[in-house]
Amino acid sequence: MIFDVLTLFPEMIENYFSYSILKRAVDNGILSVNTINPRDYTLNKHKKVDDTPYGGGAGMVLMPQPYVDAYESIVRKENTVTIMLSPQGEPLNDQIVNELAGYEQIIMLCGHYEGFDERIREIIKPREISIGDFVLTGGELPALCLIDAVSRKLDGTLGKIESADEDSFSNGLIEYPHYTKPREYRGLKVPEVLLNGNHKEINEFRYQESLKRTKLKRPDLYSAYIEKLSK
Ligand code: SAM
Repeated sequence: MIFDVLTLFPEMIENYFSYSILKRAVDNGILSVNTINPRDYTLNKHKKVDDTPYGGGAGMVLMPQPYVDAYESIVRKENTVTIMLSPQGEPLNDQIVNELAGYEQIIMLCGHYEGFDERIREIIKPREISIGDFVLTGGELPALCLIDAVSRKLDGTLGKIESADEDSFSNGLIEYPHYTKPREYRGLKVPEVLLNGNHKEINEFRYQESLKRTKLKRPDLYSAYIEKLSK
């Protein structure tokens, strides 16, 4: 999987892949992350990438030329999707993450300041994705969220021990509670059933806990799950 990220702040993206699981995935050739800086594609001598908005108002708007030229410089694979990170986009969820994991290349546009000149949308026609109904200063964190979530779905990113099979959302529910050593901490004990080695009982306990906490914390997911079961 190739991730190509258009960003004015490449180091914010690059640094993230120097650690832990994603570093290992890069080292093992499971994914690669390239950054493209629109500032390198400006045609003006001050390397300006933004300007004041027509019609007035606050903030600076990202100019079309550097973004479109930077975008068009990327070598596209056959199975590619282009995503604009934007609070106006469809909210990211596990289903979209699974869908995106099926591409060979994901090109991402990170905005900043007041956002993109509308013609960038009109020319590039990206899929717009949001990471939630709030506004951040830039698209780099959203791009990293997306890359991280998609990378976990790629074969070989997670070791067997880190499997995502039982993670929240994978079966429509949120995950059961976890416990590790010690058996008792500040008077709180690990549930007995997890200590008896009976995997059938352990699985049943975890399933019931998953149901219970989904009902409590995410009634929307719970209703959808129960409806699906009843079909
Ligand atoms: N003026 C824009 C609006 O109200 O829709 C917001 C611009 S925001 C300050 C700057 C950039 O941060 C956006 O272009 C986008 O790339 C990124 N961004 C901010 N919040 C985001 C979110 N919730 N999801 C995805 N990207 C976001």
